[in-house]
Amino acid sequence: MKIAVFPGSFDPLTNGHLNIIKRASKLFDELVIAVAVNTSKSALFSLEEKVQLIDEAVKDLANVRVITVQGLTVDLFKELKATTLVRGLRDEEDYRYERQIAEMNHQLENSVETIFLMARPQDTYVASSIIKEIVKMHGDISKFVPQNVVQPLTDKFK
Ligand code: ADP
Repeated sequence: MKIAVFPGSFDPLTNGHLNIIKRASKLFDELVIAVAVNTSKSALFSLEEKVQLIDEAVKDLANVRVITVQGLTVDLFKELKATTLVRGLRDEEDYRYERQIAEMNHQLENSVETIFLMARPQDTYVASSIIKEIVKMHGDISKFVPQNVVQPLTDKFK
């Protein structure tokens, strides 16, 4: 059984993340989305809120499940007996960062193999951080996030 883990902050889930999830779910028997605490970014949504939003957005994908991860991704990877880590790549900046993380994970746990799915052109400029800035200024973000995320995100800035 090929199990892949897609870790991330997902603060909040965007159409870019969802596209990677849909494509990765076709490549593996099971895809586990691991909502992580990002110690260098302060989160808008709680882990529980993020899990709920992702759960709703992936409800039609039978082999996808959502969990939280508090510790190292590689520890979760071993615990799940996963074969692959999945990450998305938008641009050169992602590439530099992701390359470093992938190598570090491999150094920490030899069995970790990371694969990268390229963002679709329409998603390359979609980033949770920018979307939050737009909502803060009362802009329309409905094109960039799944339908079920729009209201909870808007409510955060009421
Ligand atoms: P992290 O804080 O772990 O980078 P993010 O939620 O920002 O968490 O991103 C999780 C993963 O999704 C990363 O691999 C990131 O490159 C990828 N990703 C983020 N936004 C997009 C997007 N618009 N299209 C494709 N992949 C994306």
